[in-house]
Amino acid sequence: MASWAEQLERELSGRGLAIAFVPGKGRGLVATRSFFPGEVLICQEPYASAPNKVSVGSTCDHCFASGKLRKCSVCRLAWYCGSVCQKAEWKLHQLECQAISALTEDRKKMLTPTIRLMVRLILRRKLQIEKAIPSSATDNYNLVDVLESHISKVDGKQLVLYAQMANLVQLVLPSIQLDLKEIAHTFSKFACNAHTICDPELRPLGTGLFPVISIINHSCVPNAVLLFEGHTAYVRALEPLSNNTEISISYIETAATTIKRQNDLKQYFFSCSCPCCIKDSEEDALLEGYRCKDTKCDGILLPDSGKKAYTCQKCGICRDGEEVKKVSSQILLLSDKASSLLSSGNNSDAGSVYKVIEQLEQKLYHSFSIPLLHTREKLLKICMDLQDWQTSLMYCRLTIPVYESKTTLILLYLNENILYY
Ligand SMILES: [Zn+2]
Ligand SMILES: [Zn+2]
Ligand SMILES: [Zn+2]
Ligand SMILES: [Zn+2]
Repeated sequence: MASWAEQLERELSGRGLAIAFVPGKGRGLVATRSFFPGEVLICQEPYASAPNKVSVGSTCDHCFASGKLRKCSVCRLAWYCGSVCQKAEWKLHQLECQAISALTEDRKKMLTPTIRLMVRLILRRKLQIEKAIPSSATDNYNLVDVLESHISKVDGKQLVLYAQMANLVQLVLPSIQLDLKEIAHTFSKFACNAHTICDPELRPLGTGLFPVISIINHSCVPNAVLLFEGHTAYVRALEPLSNNTEISISYIETAATTIKRQNDLKQYFFSCSCPCCIKDSEEDALLEGYRCKDTKCDGILLPDSGKKAYTCQKCGICRDGEEVKKVSSQILLLSDKASSLLSSGNNSDAGSVYKVIEQLEQKLYHSFSIPLLHTREKLLKICMDLQDWQTSLMYCRLTIPVYESKTTLILLYLNENILYY
């Protein structure tokens, strides 16, 4: 008998897919033949699923269909669209139903969708071990077992919460001796691997664990999309895929700024290095960033790991991190002085200090950088207050190209900075 991993490999290769090690990402799913746009790459039913709070009573516990539903008369928590679904769930729900019915009303209220998802996962595993329900290459607990939990990166507060949740699961299932540490790890797996099951209008209905689909990595410019029909997840190609292409889907809303996307991806514990994020981080580096040591070069400087040095992406010249830090702290000191002069109404002295700052910033920053832009805007305002129109015009001319070049991103930054004006 082949191991489950070999069985999975065989099953996937029959569909033109393979699991591969992708540098920097770990496991990934790769096409081993070409696929046309719209073609289904893989589909999977959830290993475990649970409706979310709003969906309880409005979607079927098994197939996630809406419409006229019937409630389980014993636990009064499970809902089904008909006898077919009730039957399909029965072996699992029978155990769940007994457990729920034995709970006090107060404890029943603690059955959040995530707790219920865990309860159902444990019961499914138990039934498969006892061979009361079948398992297959794509439907077995081993696939859940190997999912990444990133537990070492989870913060202390969250770990405590996972431990409390594990205790609650043990209270719901007193007849099963649980490994609470393992359950806490599995909650962490849910956070970075579970998928939100949506209806065709993309309204969230519940959560499901699809361990084979979890192998697919994220990209902000994905070549495939995850959609649901009922509770079944379908991954379809968005573009022609050739042999050896890594399949990617987006875990998050892609129509968002890089900052928002990176923030949304935090729960998955990786930093995205898709073409979109790389390009945007270069734009960010340009706006926030330092200038090349070569005054004639307009290259972007990206920090080396540890920010010990910054390398020009155009000519390759390095700038020492210590030197950058020294000038930065000089600027910071002067900025404090200038803003206190400004707030005491001493515009003319403040103007002189800002001019020194501008000189230093021109040595430090790229001509498109935001700090330099802000300094020039301050000088523009001060010169206008002092009715020095000639100099005002000069600063005006210096700021315009920055606005013309990166309008959207700058607006973003200004939104953050608007409070300071
Ligand atoms: Zn149903
Ligand atoms: Zn029931
Ligand atoms: Zn990305
Ligand atoms: Zn350069």
